[in-house]
Amino acid sequence: MENSFLIPCKGLIDGKSKEIQRDVYLLVENGIVSEIGPQRDMPNIDFFQGNIKLLDYRYGYITPGIIDTHVHMTFSAEADTMGALTSKSTSAITIEGVNNLKATLQGGVTAIRDLGAPGYIDIALRNAQAEGRIIGPESLVSGRFITMTGGHGWQIGRECDGAAEATKAAREQLKQGADVIKIMATGGVLTPGVDPNSTQLSEMEIRAAVVEAHKSGKKTATHAQGIQGIKNAVQAGIDSVEHGVYLDGETADMMVAKGTYLVPTFSAIYNIIKFGEEYGIPKFAVDKAKMIKEVHFESFQRAREKGVNIAMGTDAGTPFNRHGDNLFELKLMVDMGMSPMEAIQASTSQSAKLLGIENTHGSLEVGKKADFLLVKNNPVTDIQNLLDFETVYQEGWKIDS
Ligand SMILES: [Zn+2]
Repeated sequence: MENSFLIPCKGLIDGKSKEIQRDVYLLVENGIVSEIGPQRDMPNIDFFQGNIKLLDYRYGYITPGIIDTHVHMTFSAEADTMGALTSKSTSAITIEGVNNLKATLQGGVTAIRDLGAPGYIDIALRNAQAEGRIIGPESLVSGRFITMTGGHGWQIGRECDGAAEATKAAREQLKQGADVIKIMATGGVLTPGVDPNSTQLSEMEIRAAVVEAHKSGKKTATHAQGIQGIKNAVQAGIDSVEHGVYLDGETADMMVAKGTYLVPTFSAIYNIIKFGEEYGIPKFAVDKAKMIKEVHFESFQRAREKGVNIAMGTDAGTPFNRHGDNLFELKLMVDMGMSPMEAIQASTSQSAKLLGIENTHGSLEVGKKADFLLVKNNPVTDIQNLLDFETVYQEGWKIDS
């Protein structure tokens, strides 16, 4: 098979161990890791007779494929996200989604969680990828996110008011085939006239949606920037807080106790500020991004000190936050104080845990999917080396760039 390899490497970063495993080999059979061991014990394989090929990578490093837990495949990184989404046809958005999936995989991301799309396009894209009709990362998707009437992202969300309607809104997403329920607990940067710090869906409304998701074994995520909204969502039993801009110490403690994840999505704010109004990003979005930058950084430090679980997410698709540039988030996480190894683990095994796919994804161990990157220079001494990776493999298949 084309997806069976014996790969000796200089260093294996498995996604879990604190140390690099040096001078080991990885045996991949039909897309699954079947053996890992020191090179002196490497199996004797007849590469001319058998199905297994030799992939000699003795000069380089292997890491797990990266898992991005917050993307939007139907947003195409235009300056004005909501303007673009509301002016394009469903078919145009769908075609862009196909291209965005491919770019993401080529960018080193082998699994994603899509947290909000118009018209259930994300569900169609997920199914097409799973059936092998299009190329892309394996996807978990939310369908339409749940927001209050006039709340963050209302243009494409499922507006609802009151607990009974939140229950119904969640059931609708599950009926359509959503893998995760996404909820808007606060305002945000990209919706005009909405304060990022404002509280939106109430704890009662969030709880109603969370209960429905958990009943069917699905996870939940909330967009949450202001502290009261973050608190409401954590108390309601949410599985991950996305952005978490104004997170305080008390709520961070609560997240530690409950095992709630934080997905900081630094790339979103970074790109809005970097490109700014000169590139056509609406002034209201640039102003809001600048307003929250510092406090976002402080909240992340607080979360790390307290020991909150952290997973990687980019919010790819938001202004100039391009699909395929996802690994830049790891560089930002390192700039914000993580070690490269911590950033890699947050982006692999931790992200897999948040998504509930840790038995098959997120680390290079026997029995797990052979989703991996070949990285020429040591990514643990400099995270930039990971961003400069050489090749992506998904379930043992080489992805052409
Ligand atoms: Zn988002």
